[in-house]
Amino acid sequence: MTFTVAVVGRPNVGKSTLFNRLAGKRLALVDDTPGVTRDRREADGKLFDLTFRLVDTAGLEEADHASLASRMREQSQRAVEEADVVLFMLDARAGITPSDELFADELRKSDRPVIVLTNKCEGSAGEAGFYEAYELGLGEPVAFSGEHGHGIDELYDRLHAIH
Ligand code: GDP
Ligand code: MG
Repeated sequence: MTFTVAVVGRPNVGKSTLFNRLAGKRLALVDDTPGVTRDRREADGKLFDLTFRLVDTAGLEEADHASLASRMREQSQRAVEEADVVLFMLDARAGITPSDELFADELRKSDRPVIVLTNKCEGSAGEAGFYEAYELGLGEPVAFSGEHGHGIDELYDRLHAIH
Protein backbone atom coordinates (compact mmCIF):
# COMPACT_ATOMS: atom_id res chain seq x y z
CA MET A 1 0.00 0.00 0.00
CA THR A 2 1.37 3.39 -0.98
CA PHE A 3 1.31 6.23 1.44
CA THR A 4 1.86 9.81 0.47
CA VAL A 5 3.95 12.33 2.37
CA ALA A 6 3.65 16.01 1.41
CA VAL A 7 6.18 18.64 2.49
CA VAL A 8 4.55 22.04 2.97
CA GLY A 9 5.60 25.39 4.36
CA ARG A 10 6.48 28.88 3.27
CA PRO A 11 9.36 29.50 0.85
CA ASN A 12 12.97 29.02 1.88
CA VAL A 13 12.38 26.96 5.01
CA GLY A 14 14.17 23.97 3.48
CA LYS A 15 11.41 21.80 1.96
CA SER A 16 13.29 20.92 -1.22
CA THR A 17 16.46 20.13 0.71
CA LEU A 18 14.55 17.53 2.71
CA PHE A 19 12.81 16.31 -0.42
CA ASN A 20 16.17 15.75 -2.07
CA ARG A 21 17.48 13.89 0.95
CA LEU A 22 14.49 11.55 1.12
CA ALA A 23 14.28 11.12 -2.64
CA GLY A 24 17.89 10.02 -2.66
CA LYS A 25 18.54 11.98 -5.80
CA ARG A 26 18.26 15.62 -6.70
CA LEU A 27 14.98 16.02 -8.47
CA ALA A 28 14.04 19.45 -7.15
CA LEU A 29 15.92 22.70 -7.40
CA VAL A 30 17.33 24.18 -4.24
CA ASP A 31 17.58 27.91 -4.47
CA ASP A 32 18.65 30.56 -2.02
CA THR A 33 16.23 33.09 -3.43
CA PRO A 34 13.04 33.28 -1.37
CA GLY A 35 9.90 33.00 -3.41
CA VAL A 36 11.40 31.36 -6.46
CA THR A 37 8.51 29.64 -8.16
CA ARG A 38 9.13 25.99 -8.75
CA ASP A 39 6.94 23.19 -9.89
CA ARG A 40 5.61 20.70 -7.49
CA ARG A 41 7.82 17.59 -7.54
CA GLU A 42 7.09 14.01 -6.74
CA ALA A 43 9.42 11.13 -6.10
CA ASP A 44 9.59 7.72 -4.55
CA GLY A 45 10.70 8.59 -1.05
CA LYS A 46 12.64 6.31 1.24
CA LEU A 47 13.58 6.57 4.90
CA PHE A 48 15.28 3.45 6.25
CA ASP A 49 12.72 0.69 5.63
CA LEU A 50 9.81 3.06 4.94
CA THR A 51 8.91 3.74 1.33
CA PHE A 52 6.34 6.29 0.28
CA ARG A 53 5.30 8.74 -2.40
CA LEU A 54 6.89 12.08 -1.63
CA VAL A 55 5.47 15.43 -2.74
CA ASP A 56 7.44 18.68 -2.57
CA THR A 57 5.13 21.67 -2.81
CA ALA A 58 6.61 24.49 -4.82
CA GLY A 59 7.51 27.95 -3.66
CA LEU A 60 4.58 30.20 -2.96
CA GLU A 61 5.66 33.70 -3.69
CA GLU A 62 5.84 35.98 -0.71
CA ALA A 63 3.09 38.47 -1.29
CA ASP A 64 0.54 40.33 0.71
CA HIS A 65 -1.37 38.37 3.29
CA ALA A 66 -4.56 37.80 1.28
CA SER A 67 -2.71 36.81 -1.87
CA LEU A 68 -0.51 34.37 -0.03
CA ALA A 69 -3.51 32.80 1.62
CA SER A 70 -5.27 32.21 -1.69
CA ARG A 71 -2.14 30.90 -3.40
CA MET A 72 -1.63 28.57 -0.50
CA ARG A 73 -5.12 27.26 -0.84
CA GLU A 74 -4.62 26.67 -4.55
CA GLN A 75 -1.23 25.03 -4.44
CA SER A 76 -0.86 23.36 -1.07
CA GLN A 77 -4.40 22.28 -0.38
CA ARG A 78 -4.37 19.66 -3.09
CA ALA A 79 -1.12 18.24 -1.79
CA VAL A 80 -2.52 18.18 1.74
CA GLU A 81 -5.75 16.56 0.59
CA GLU A 82 -3.98 13.73 -1.14
CA ALA A 83 -1.40 13.27 1.59
CA ASP A 84 -1.60 10.65 4.30
CA VAL A 85 0.92 12.61 6.34
CA VAL A 86 1.92 16.27 6.08
CA LEU A 87 5.40 17.45 7.00
CA PHE A 88 4.95 21.10 7.97
CA MET A 89 8.33 22.74 7.80
CA LEU A 90 9.39 25.89 9.65
CA ASP A 91 12.67 27.79 9.76
CA ALA A 92 13.59 27.68 13.44
CA ARG A 93 16.22 30.36 12.93
CA ALA A 94 13.68 32.79 11.52
CA GLY A 95 11.06 32.00 14.17
CA ILE A 96 7.33 31.76 13.49
CA THR A 97 6.16 34.21 10.83
CA PRO A 98 2.63 35.28 9.82
CA SER A 99 2.94 33.02 6.76
CA ASP A 100 3.71 30.07 9.01
CA GLU A 101 0.61 30.91 11.03
CA LEU A 102 -1.50 30.91 7.86
CA PHE A 103 -0.24 27.46 6.97
CA ALA A 104 -0.87 26.29 10.51
CA ASP A 105 -4.47 27.58 10.37
CA GLU A 106 -5.10 25.64 7.15
CA LEU A 107 -3.49 22.50 8.52
CA ARG A 108 -5.50 22.58 11.74
CA LYS A 109 -8.65 22.69 9.58
CA SER A 110 -7.58 19.63 7.61
CA ASP A 111 -7.94 16.23 9.19
CA ARG A 112 -4.50 15.09 8.09
CA PRO A 113 -1.82 14.02 10.54
CA VAL A 114 0.82 16.76 10.69
CA ILE A 115 4.43 16.46 11.76
CA VAL A 116 5.96 19.86 12.55
CA LEU A 117 9.62 20.02 11.54
CA THR A 118 11.49 23.02 12.94
CA ASN A 119 14.26 23.04 10.39
CA LYS A 120 17.73 24.62 10.50
CA CYS A 121 18.01 23.45 14.12
CA GLU A 122 21.62 22.36 13.82
CA GLY A 123 23.67 24.21 16.42
CA SER A 124 21.81 26.39 18.91
CA ALA A 125 20.45 29.10 16.57
CA GLY A 126 17.10 27.38 16.24
CA GLU A 127 16.35 26.82 19.90
CA ALA A 128 13.92 29.72 20.40
CA GLY A 129 12.10 28.90 17.15
CA PHE A 130 11.75 25.28 18.21
CA TYR A 131 9.98 26.25 21.44
CA GLU A 132 7.83 28.85 19.64
CA ALA A 133 6.57 26.11 17.34
CA TYR A 134 4.65 24.49 20.21
CA GLU A 135 2.33 27.50 20.08
CA LEU A 136 1.06 26.54 16.62
CA GLY A 137 -1.11 23.88 18.23
CA LEU A 138 -0.03 21.13 15.85
CA GLY A 139 1.73 18.93 18.33
CA GLU A 140 5.26 18.53 19.51
CA PRO A 141 7.74 19.82 16.92
CA VAL A 142 10.75 17.85 15.79
CA ALA A 143 14.08 19.68 16.13
CA PHE A 144 15.30 19.13 12.63
CA SER A 145 18.02 19.85 10.09
CA GLY A 146 17.36 18.60 6.60
CA GLU A 147 20.80 19.71 5.55
CA HIS A 148 22.64 17.90 8.33
CA GLY A 149 20.25 15.02 8.91
CA HIS A 150 19.35 15.96 12.48
CA GLY A 151 15.97 14.67 13.58
CA ILE A 152 15.79 12.06 10.84
CA ASP A 153 15.46 9.23 13.39
CA GLU A 154 12.67 11.11 15.14
CA LEU A 155 10.95 11.72 11.79
CA TYR A 156 11.18 8.00 11.07
CA ASP A 157 9.61 7.17 14.44
CA ARG A 158 6.79 9.67 13.85
CA LEU A 159 6.07 8.38 10.34
CA HIS A 160 6.19 4.83 11.59
CA ALA A 161 3.74 5.62 14.40
CA ILE A 162 1.27 7.27 12.00
CA HIS A 163 1.56 4.66 9.34
P1 GDP B 1 12.29 25.61 0.16
O1 GDP B 1 12.06 26.92 -0.53
O2 GDP B 1 11.42 25.47 1.37
O3 GDP B 1 12.19 24.44 -0.76
O4 GDP B 1 13.79 25.65 0.74
P2 GDP B 1 15.15 25.07 0.10
O5 GDP B 1 15.26 23.61 0.34
O6 GDP B 1 15.24 25.57 -1.29
O7 GDP B 1 16.24 25.77 1.04
C1 GDP B 1 16.27 27.16 1.22
C2 GDP B 1 17.59 27.55 1.86
O8 GDP B 1 17.69 27.01 3.17
C3 GDP B 1 18.82 27.03 1.10
O9 GDP B 1 19.82 28.01 1.18
C4 GDP B 1 19.22 25.80 1.90
O10 GDP B 1 20.59 25.52 1.76
C5 GDP B 1 18.87 26.24 3.31
N1 GDP B 1 18.61 25.09 4.20
C6 GDP B 1 17.85 24.00 3.96
N2 GDP B 1 17.87 23.14 5.00
C7 GDP B 1 18.69 23.68 5.93
C8 GDP B 1 19.12 23.27 7.23
O11 GDP B 1 18.78 22.20 7.75
N3 GDP B 1 19.93 24.13 7.90
C9 GDP B 1 20.34 25.32 7.36
N4 GDP B 1 21.14 26.09 8.11
N5 GDP B 1 19.96 25.75 6.15
C10 GDP B 1 19.14 24.93 5.43
MG1 MG C 1 11.49 24.28 -2.68
